Amino acid sequence: MSRLAQTAGLTDIQQEILSTVRDFVDKEIIPVATQLEHRDEYPTDIVEGLKELGLFGLMIPEEYGGLGESLLTYALCVEEIARGWMSVSGIINTHFIVAYMLKQHGTQEQKDTFLPRMALGEVRGAFSMSEPALGSDVSAISSKGVKEGDEYVLNGQKMWLTNGGSSTLVAVLCRSDEGHPEGTAPHKSMTTFLVEKEAGFGEVRPGLTIPGKIDKMGYKGVDTTELIMDGLRIPANRVLGGTTGRGFYQMMDGVEVGRVNVAARGCGVAQRAFELGVSYAQQRQTFGKPIAQHQAIQFKLAEMATKVEAAHAMMVNAARKKDSGERNDLEAGMAKYLASEYCKEVVEDAFRIHGGYGFSKEYEIERLYREAPMLLIGEGTAEIQKMIIGRRLLEEYRFQG
Ligand SMILES: Cc1cc2nc3c(=O)[nH]c(=O)nc-3n(C[C@H](O)[C@H](O)[C@H](O)COP(=O)(O)OP(=O)(O)OC[C@H]3O[C@@H](n4cnc5c(N)ncnc54)[C@H](O)[C@@H]3O)c2cc1C
Repeated sequence: MSRLAQTAGLTDIQQEILSTVRDFVDKEIIPVATQLEHRDEYPTDIVEGLKELGLFGLMIPEEYGGLGESLLTYALCVEEIARGWMSVSGIINTHFIVAYMLKQHGTQEQKDTFLPRMALGEVRGAFSMSEPALGSDVSAISSKGVKEGDEYVLNGQKMWLTNGGSSTLVAVLCRSDEGHPEGTAPHKSMTTFLVEKEAGFGEVRPGLTIPGKIDKMGYKGVDTTELIMDGLRIPANRVLGGTTGRGFYQMMDGVEVGRVNVAARGCGVAQRAFELGVSYAQQRQTFGKPIAQHQAIQFKLAEMATKVEAAHAMMVNAARKKDSGERNDLEAGMAKYLASEYCKEVVEDAFRIHGGYGFSKEYEIERLYREAPMLLIGEGTAEIQKMIIGRRLLEEYRFQG
């Protein structure tokens, strides 16, 4: 094995795409990532480069101008990109989820309108479920869409939109009671609205305000925002799939592929932390020899590399399961849970290997240390993953006595 996290059975096309992305990451992302992150600066040049590589349309079908690639190809690209800088993978992730939801659930008119421009990166997607009072408990959503003639009027406040400012198409999950009698289960009375808007901050469309960026401890560069709807009018043909009441299922489908994606990010960040740790351990001398020659440090490296390999294998398995058309919520939940926990641990070990220098902003590991915790939260916390895994296990291993 020449390097960690190899994937068996890739096609020539997949290998070519990955090698191009890896090259781009090494030349265009890693050299500038830490500097941009410290300035919380949006990586405009990198995003233009990703557009040229066709990454915004990686999974969009060829008939709409995309590359029509699998979830596995996408996840492996995300792993490479996150190895360079996790924020860049965040920029394409919400776009990818919205394109996926359109492909799976959109009306023909919605696909024709959005997918070709999304494949080019001209229309950029964000998705919005969370609100100030909820994240895990999606059924508690209080933002509401009420039908008035041929339109819906949306009111409510959303929280934590990755790419909230830079996107031009937001998939917003709201309660929509129309057509659903009183007492309908919450998840059956939710609708995904496709909200088009200008990029930027302030009132980006009548009735729609994106206040400034949320100041975060890490995962900088990519904008994370609130979204305020105050009498926002949306034409009825911008209900995803054309029918109300399906939003919860559509969003959960999107989040399921998003989980593979977050697992892939965890793999990428952990790989980079390992690379930094193994390199530093061979350069730093204590007690007359490189610290890599002390058994305690070698054991750390061994544990880190094993975690990188295990997380990669689970992520690949979850992506392949989805690509085969099978239900993958169990595998995606396990991959997301394990990869994010291992990522945090590998980053911490690399940080410890750096001694005091790990605490200095001059060293890349300082950035990774602030980035890894986001993976424990996004696309469902560890506790939520364990709830999904536990429920599925009880379905599979139902007691027959
Ligand atoms: C940087 C960033 C970007 C984000 N981007 C997006 C985005 O693009 N779109 C979007 O919609 N959301 C986004 N989110 C929101 C994210 O999905 C939520 O933060 C996440 O789902 C957790 O929700 P919460 O923060 O409300 O925590 P809560 O749901 O309030 O949970 C708080 C704690 O309680 C635990 N908990 C909750 N319920 C249970 C339970 N039943 N059993 C045991 N423990 C429980 C949780 O695991 C957690 O530890 C983003 C968040 C961050 C930080």
